[in-house]
Amino acid sequence: MTKWLLRCTKCGNVRVLEVGYDLRAFKKMYIFCPKCRRNTHHEIVSVQVEE
Ligand SMILES: [Zn+2]
Repeated sequence: MTKWLLRCTKCGNVRVLEVGYDLRAFKKMYIFCPKCRRNTHHEIVSVQVEE
């Protein structure tokens, strides 16, 4: 699994997303932000690969 640290470009909230695929194919992710309580654009802050 890969841990992606994603930041909401709207409010700056950072959240961790664990997925098994490469998000770098997407320039910006449109996912749910619990702080904005809606789907917002997120940018990749850092990537942590776990074996
Ligand atoms: Zn947000």
